[in-house]
Amino acid sequence: MRFRRRPVPRGAVALVTGASSGLGRAIAVALARDGAQVVVHGRDERRLARTARDTGGIPIAADLADPAQVRRLADEALRRAGRVDVLVHNAGVGWAGRFTDMPDNAAGRLLAVDLAAPIALTRSLLPPMLARGSGSLLFVTSIAGRTGVAGEAVYAAAKAGLDAFAESLRLELRGTGVTVGVLVPGVVDTDFFERRGAPYERRRPRPLPPERVAEAAVRAVAEGAAEVHAPRWLRLPVVVKAAAPGLYRTLAGRFGEHV
Ligand code: NAP
Repeated sequence: MRFRRRPVPRGAVALVTGASSGLGRAIAVALARDGAQVVVHGRDERRLARTARDTGGIPIAADLADPAQVRRLADEALRRAGRVDVLVHNAGVGWAGRFTDMPDNAAGRLLAVDLAAPIALTRSLLPPMLARGSGSLLFVTSIAGRTGVAGEAVYAAAKAGLDAFAESLRLELRGTGVTVGVLVPGVVDTDFFERRGAPYERRRPRPLPPERVAEAAVRAVAEGAAEVHAPRWLRLPVVVKAAAPGLYRTLAGRFGEHV
């Protein structure tokens, strides 16, 4: 399904992290279809090469858990593409289970990939955007960061942190020509769940195809939207939690996920 929307400017250079798989791959394909030059990032070189082939993009492999590799990714993107106009922070990793069962190094690694890396990458790539007076940052967060989820405490904390970083930066960058948005997905049909160690087994909400969520991401970039939920109705639990937190917690306790 395609939304009617404004396209991303032709020839804009877009760096998409985590484009070797799932949602990031679909976002890179959608941006390339709009006429953007994409720089695609991932770790798995074979799958990354496939995305690069399908998008005509420049592949750069880097492990975002390693700060030195995050810096190298920024440097290499600027060197090979000349500039970055659109930065999509999509790469992310989950972990499912009771917090007390989480192995010692797992929380630090998750926070490094999901929170520290996007902040460091923004620190490297934002100054040239500000100097040009244009650019676009999009952060892929999660409904988990908006509501909290049992069994995903550290992941939810990382995504909530990313949300707060994006919101603060958006306020700070008003009038600079650089837009900041967040994409808040619900459940997307990707390898994410297998990788986090627990398949998605609920009947509802039904997982969305990554291509559909990617359209919402590209719309957020093209329109400079502050936030986009995918699906749109996902705003509802966020609004209920903000307006009636007691009611929300009662409902979440009754219908929410248990571990
Ligand atoms: P996915 O298919 O597992 O893709 C995750 C991507 O992140 C892959 O390209 C992976 O690269 C990359 N990545 C993971 N760890 C990395 C690391 N240490 N260094 C560099 N890259 C790394 O999952 P997805 O669903 O598309 O996830 C995309 C984003 O959506 C994530 O931020 C996730 O939190 C968010 N999200 C997903 C859902 C969902 O239901 N699927 C819901 C809400 C939010 P390699 O494969 O090359 O290692």
